[in-house]
Amino acid sequence: MVSETIALEQVNRLWQLNYYPRDPEQSAALRELVTAAQGADSENCLKTAITAILYDSEDCPKPADIRRVVRVENERERELEAAREKEKPRPGPCPFCYGIGFATRTYLLTRTTEEIDGEVKARVTKKYLISDEEIEAAKKSLAEGQEVISGGERCSCQTKMAS
Ligand SMILES: [Zn+2]
Repeated sequence: MVSETIALEQVNRLWQLNYYPRDPEQSAALRELVTAAQGADSENCLKTAITAILYDSEDCPKPADIRRVVRVENERERELEAAREKEKPRPGPCPFCYGIGFATRTYLLTRTTEEIDGEVKARVTKKYLISDEEIEAAKKSLAEGQEVISGGERCSCQTKMAS
């Protein structure tokens, strides 16, 4: 549906055709044309429909003619929309685990100890290494207590789903 204003604007383009209801006493006939034009899905559909009518008619169309052309344009637009929807790229699986839920990940493990209130506690931190460059760089600059480890892990996409 398009608004009455938009429909009237487009119907007005037919003024040049024979028998266009241009007299004030023909306002009921004009309203019928506008109502028929309002059946368009969008302003664009209606524009195309009116352009098609202007292209091959000398006489002003009847409401039924407008409805018919508008219906054709609506269908064409819906088919186009459906085709566009089909071509839309769908979100792929998780780039880390490809949807399996487990992925081999490499991380830099750092073991440190710290003294809290006279008690020595071990601390282990993990830093994930994403690219080969990062992994190479980490291997070259290992400090004491550091290790580069690869292993299968529950993928982060799974924990996101669980929470
Ligand atoms: Zn994943």
